[in-house]
Amino acid sequence: MSSPGFTSALERIGNGGQDPSDLEALLAAQDRSRVDALHSAAYAVKKREVGLVARLRGLIEWSNTCARNCTYCGIRRDNPGVERYTLEVEEIVAAAYRAREFGYASIVLQGGERQDPAHTERVVKLLLKIHAATGGELGVTLSVGEQDRSVLRRWRQAGAHRYLLRMETSDRDLYARLHPDHPDWEKRRRCLDDLRDEGYQVGTGVMIGLPGQSLASLARDLLFFATQDVDMIGMGPFIPHADTPLAAADFDSERQVRLALNMIACARLLLPDANIASTTALQALHCRGRERGLLAGANVMMPNVTGLRYRTAYQLYDGKPSLDEDAASSRRQLERSVAAIGETIGYGERGDAPRALARLPRP
Ligand code: SAH
Repeated sequence: MSSPGFTSALERIGNGGQDPSDLEALLAAQDRSRVDALHSAAYAVKKREVGLVARLRGLIEWSNTCARNCTYCGIRRDNPGVERYTLEVEEIVAAAYRAREFGYASIVLQGGERQDPAHTERVVKLLLKIHAATGGELGVTLSVGEQDRSVLRRWRQAGAHRYLLRMETSDRDLYARLHPDHPDWEKRRRCLDDLRDEGYQVGTGVMIGLPGQSLASLARDLLFFATQDVDMIGMGPFIPHADTPLAAADFDSERQVRLALNMIACARLLLPDANIASTTALQALHCRGRERGLLAGANVMMPNVTGLRYRTAYQLYDGKPSLDEDAASSRRQLERSVAAIGETIGYGERGDAPRALARLPRP
């Protein structure tokens, strides 16, 4: 049986409470009855607010060239073992086309972070080409790191309408330790404001189970999402990569999965109608990770539509799944996963978060 402390914490958070110690109690849920109670409460909210429909975003990992040196990330600048690539514009447009043919009405363009003008222009060109090639029908999310407001404006004007910028952690000190050569957490946070002011649907998120990250810190991450009133949340377990400074970090994959699922459930309770992703990193640690993410309250999945040739070069962490699975088989796999839990797929729908539509004109 759940203890009275846990049960009342769940009740308070379910009723709009935002007490950090209640969130901590929920995140700590380990035994089956508590985990089930937490996940079912989140699932009921998801059903009511966004329906039992998995929203799809075709993920295009378009470049692994990166100017940053994040201590956890496999494609960090100082990892010489990575074969760097940047897809040709035509290849990206082809991937976008593939996504649309599959009925994915949205894509995510994700890549390493660069701030140079050539990169800015390349993204503009890409966005315009995708827009022209798909009749402006595809929803386009960018996930290419921190950028100046003027750059964000240009990309918005060129057709991007959502942006995913994970804060990685809301803990300033932990952030500084993870990013010794760009320790300024506040600068990254301001970028979220810029995105919102430029009319993007704004997504953020964190890694879960980082070295030095406590449950209290994760509870603050959740409250940060609520305070920022974000439209989308993408979170996944931290997974060490052998060629990074965090290679030897303490790592208990069962705990990572449990915490990640509890974080998803709490995020759903705090931001009932947000788009919340069931991420690839979850799938990397558990063969049914993505389904379990949906059952804990997530409603978005991001099947990879990048050509197979480049899959292995975009390895943010070890054990990334589907390295040899082409876009068509990953679509079949996904259909099976979603059907297995009795949900449907929102084919042909952009799947904007209701909270974003209330704020912004339809893109
Ligand atoms: N460069 C872009 C996006 C690419 S990385 C940006 O900065 O926004 C996408 C996400 O992968 C990162 O935000 C991070 O949260 C996640 N990631 C990177 N390394 C990881 C690791 N070792 N384990 C789990 N997630 C990781």
